[in-house]
Amino acid sequence: MCSIVEKSTRLTQTIWTELAPKIKYVLTDCDGVIWHSKERVPGASIVLEKLRDRGIQLGFVTNNSGTSRAELLEKFSALKIKANPEEIFCVNNLTAKYLVGKGVTGKLYMIGHKALYDELQAVGLSCNEPGPDPVDDYYQSWSGLHLEETVQAVVVGFDNHFSLAKVCRAASYLEDPKCLFVATDADSRIAAPKCPHLVLPCTGSIIAAVQAPTGRTPELIGKPSTLLADMIRTVYPGLSGQNTLVIGDNLETDIEFGRRSGFTTLLVETGVHKRHHVRRSEAPSFYTPSIADLAEFMR
Ligand SMILES: [Mg+2]
Repeated sequence: MCSIVEKSTRLTQTIWTELAPKIKYVLTDCDGVIWHSKERVPGASIVLEKLRDRGIQLGFVTNNSGTSRAELLEKFSALKIKANPEEIFCVNNLTAKYLVGKGVTGKLYMIGHKALYDELQAVGLSCNEPGPDPVDDYYQSWSGLHLEETVQAVVVGFDNHFSLAKVCRAASYLEDPKCLFVATDADSRIAAPKCPHLVLPCTGSIIAAVQAPTGRTPELIGKPSTLLADMIRTVYPGLSGQNTLVIGDNLETDIEFGRRSGFTTLLVETGVHKRHHVRRSEAPSFYTPSIADLAEFMR
């Protein structure tokens, strides 16, 4: 078995000193990097301020499809971490913008949380309300299930009221090849530090359930999609492989997003993945125990 040294490099003062002058943008994940649920990762806000002081543009990039941009801003404020609205790249908000960009003006079918619903409404898109979709126990009587006449897109995000009835509706709409299929994220699990005995499935499970009867693959908005980099470029046009650092705790989403987009990547070990999870083929450029370590390098 190869050692971690061969697969990824630990960030050191020497490496940082060489890297830092090239970095103009830092795109960081939130949960597991700068906070854990309602608590700040110690030292994270100091690092963010030091990066700002050096003129580096920050982007907070989250795949959390259970949160709206407005709720994220409130969270930053509650945790006393400085963030400007234009620095927040939230998948629900980006999904709504993406649909508008695709010329969608009519009805949507949404499998998702209220946060996604709010973002769709905010850009003037019309869809079903979030929440449970109660149906008859007798499956055959679903033939009476009401469907909208024309649905321009099926949009999937995290939905804690997800059900077979919702798959039935989504799959029926997706029979029309002109109906778009878009997903906020494809995260496999939600981190559950308070209930480590549970596997909490995330949006990836919902996508798989809709894919099974339709054979269709959604356009993915969140990490690791490179579409996300294009959307961030509408705010930060100068973003490039030479001047951007992506910081994240998840190899499959954060680090893979950075890798596919050609950015330098830094895995922090305060969240989902640790150095022993790294595989050579998907290795981050560097790893470090916590984002807080950057404060030491910027003294
Ligand atoms: Mg994370």
